[in-house]
Amino acid sequence: DAEVVLVGRSNVGKSTLMRELTGHDFSTGGKPGVTRQPNHFDWASEGFMFTDLPGFGFMSGVEDERREQIKTDIVHYLEENADSILAGVVVMDGKAAVDIIDRHAERGNVPHDVEMYGFLEDVGVEPIVAVNKTDKIDDLDDRLDDICDRLGLFPPWQQWSDRIAPICAKRGDIEALEECLRTRFHEHNRDDL
Ligand code: GDP
Repeated sequence: DAEVVLVGRSNVGKSTLMRELTGHDFSTGGKPGVTRQPNHFDWASEGFMFTDLPGFGFMSGVEDERREQIKTDIVHYLEENADSILAGVVVMDGKAAVDIIDRHAERGNVPHDVEMYGFLEDVGVEPIVAVNKTDKIDDLDDRLDDICDRLGLFPPWQQWSDRIAPICAKRGDIEALEECLRTRFHEHNRDDL
């Protein structure tokens, strides 16, 4: 079965997005770990799973040792399942992401989002960045270019429309992400032939 994993800091709108993608309501229950949800993608008639890796959202408040353990668990999960994972979606709050990334970088830390993006690539899962809350962003093109820049993708962002998906989960405007997933899904099926 094709599997899509979602990661993101808390409050970026991951639950809202999951609800839009799968058609059902669930919450991560506030626990780090792995939550799997069957989906209702109308364009994917075969088995298709969304997996939430909620641990990632909880890393800011936890002590170093626990944080390292969560990261290790996530990386192991990705490594073990890389063959069946169709895409890794890193969900960001488009309004806040660049500031948060820059603040981490100034302190000499690798920002979690950037680190996760790198992990996905390292294990051979092509990341998709869902840039959420676009309704709150005035200068969307500039913002998306900045996000590309922080991820090491050469702007303009439009060059990366297969992996940068501006969305507004709250309004159900997630077409750009669905298009990215649809493309991956078709590529994946073609590879299987
Ligand atoms: P999670 O912690 O990542 O699962 O985030 P939630 O899905 O619980 O959303 C966190 C907050 O962001 C909630 O108040 C949502 O209503 C809000 N939110 C989610 N998507 C959007 C969006 O596209 N635009 C705006 N403005 N708010 C959003």
